[in-house]
Amino acid sequence: MVDVSPQSLKTYRGNCHCKLFVYEVELPIITTVDECNCSLCFKRGFLWAVVSTPDQFRIIKGDKNALTSYSWGSMARHYKFCPHCGTGVLSRSIISPADPSIAINVHSIQDLDTWSLDRTPIDGAALDPKYTHTSYTGPLPTEEVDSGKVYTGSCHCGRVQVALSSKPIDETFAEPVGECNCSICERNAYVWIWPLSVNVVLHGKEDDVGRYLCGRRVVAKTFCRVCGVPLTNKPVQLPEGQVMGLTDEERKGYEMIKLTHPVNVRVLENIHLTKLDVMRLTAGRDLPPTYVNP
Ligand SMILES: [Zn+2]
Ligand SMILES: [Zn+2]
Ligand SMILES: [Zn+2]
Repeated sequence: MVDVSPQSLKTYRGNCHCKLFVYEVELPIITTVDECNCSLCFKRGFLWAVVSTPDQFRIIKGDKNALTSYSWGSMARHYKFCPHCGTGVLSRSIISPADPSIAINVHSIQDLDTWSLDRTPIDGAALDPKYTHTSYTGPLPTEEVDSGKVYTGSCHCGRVQVALSSKPIDETFAEPVGECNCSICERNAYVWIWPLSVNVVLHGKEDDVGRYLCGRRVVAKTFCRVCGVPLTNKPVQLPEGQVMGLTDEERKGYEMIKLTHPVNVRVLENIHLTKLDVMRLTAGRDLPPTYVNP
């Protein structure tokens, strides 16, 4: 006999990285998620699970106004992210406010192995209106790379921009490119490269650039405070007094960290991820301090 019982639901718990916002959602066991190629979903690396009825989603900590909303194009969806840490949590249709369709960014679900999920491609890029990139308006990096070129890019709304001198980032790129499944990289779905700091400029008004410090608090995860897109991992300029207070070993570590300014290649123009050999890195998950789920 055919089993016509509704799919059994599982309660998943999720949160933004800084734990300002915690939720629970009931979903069928997640094995397949939607991966949209529109400009916003690509820059953010969103993977979606759709919630069938709104009462299957509940807020455990924070409230619905705790998250920042961003819309674009047809303005039919609000994309909600944490203003403090930048984690993209969910999106909500605003066509029908009485019965809002909620989609969860599964990267924000606790301990879900998103690398193991099947991905259903959604061709959001084909929808009108088409997205136009914002031209880079900042200074160029202070140093060039031999036989390299300058890449530029930005967050989705264009307020925070990046310029990068690099060897061509294509199938000939011999430097590491990697995704990491530590608590923060998982939530932001970064695809990292690790250029020298002198080859990178992060450009934007101070008020528009979010800087989230976590872990050892020596690098800031930069993101746009308007659209939420995560851009770089910028070394923090520690006050001199604090540097003096470090042990020799800590100071060496800090000097090493300052040398590179990792960039999320998702924000760069003219990059084709399918041409890159993207490694999946798991060592970050075990680095201290251990992240504790709320
Ligand atoms: Zn947060
Ligand atoms: Zn999309
Ligand atoms: Zn933006």
